[in-house]
Amino acid sequence: MSTLTRIPAATIRKAEGKRATPASVRVNMLRINEIFFSLQGESSRVGLPTVFIRLTGCPLRCDYCDTAYAFHDGKTRTIDDVIAEVAQHKTKTVCVTGGEPLAQKNCLTLLAKLCDLGYSVSLETSGAIDISAVDPRVSRIVDIKTPGSGEVDKNRWENLPLLTRDDEIKFVITSEADYGWAVALLEEKKLASLAPVLFSPAFNEVRYEQLATWILRDGLRVRMQIQLHKIIWGEKRGV
Ligand code: SF4
Repeated sequence: MSTLTRIPAATIRKAEGKRATPASVRVNMLRINEIFFSLQGESSRVGLPTVFIRLTGCPLRCDYCDTAYAFHDGKTRTIDDVIAEVAQHKTKTVCVTGGEPLAQKNCLTLLAKLCDLGYSVSLETSGAIDISAVDPRVSRIVDIKTPGSGEVDKNRWENLPLLTRDDEIKFVITSEADYGWAVALLEEKKLASLAPVLFSPAFNEVRYEQLATWILRDGLRVRMQIQLHKIIWGEKRGV
């Protein structure tokens, strides 16, 4: 018997304020903000046709967040339903993103099922939540939040030793001060030896050329990335 089935139904109804869903269904459900087919705009997978699964919810509130619409909006769907929609697209590359996808425990099941089905799966996560239970076949793109994000205190440093060369570490740089902070951390924690490191300019806050100049001046072992989808389509949902 699962842990969930031991919870009295009346307790669940009271907590949810509505008729309880059977546990066998609930464990396979996720709150989904959107699913769409586009080009991957970031990471080493940039440019690859990719199905994006955006999960609802995030415990952080970064100042530069461009997906605030995913904080609450969404539909509750079964994992099988989500996978069926993914299968309609002509690619085997999937990105699970958010919000913060790991804020929903069932995300772990979704990731494992996608891998079982032969998809090449990446996960975009804030770096604030434990990544240890993520299926090892998944490439984890883990943010390190800078002071300019307003969420630097949320970084879960225990994630760093868990990273492999199949994962990536991502900084969003909002200013020269952020850049200096990131460079100091790069050195202090030897980040480039843990996983490839991405430096991304915050959209409309740091000029592409400026960040490129700093990186070249300092000879950093990082990859600069710019959000390809915004260059192609601008700031839109579903791209
Ligand atoms: S972690 Fe991502 S989704 Fe959450 S507030 Fe920050 S940028 Fe937005």
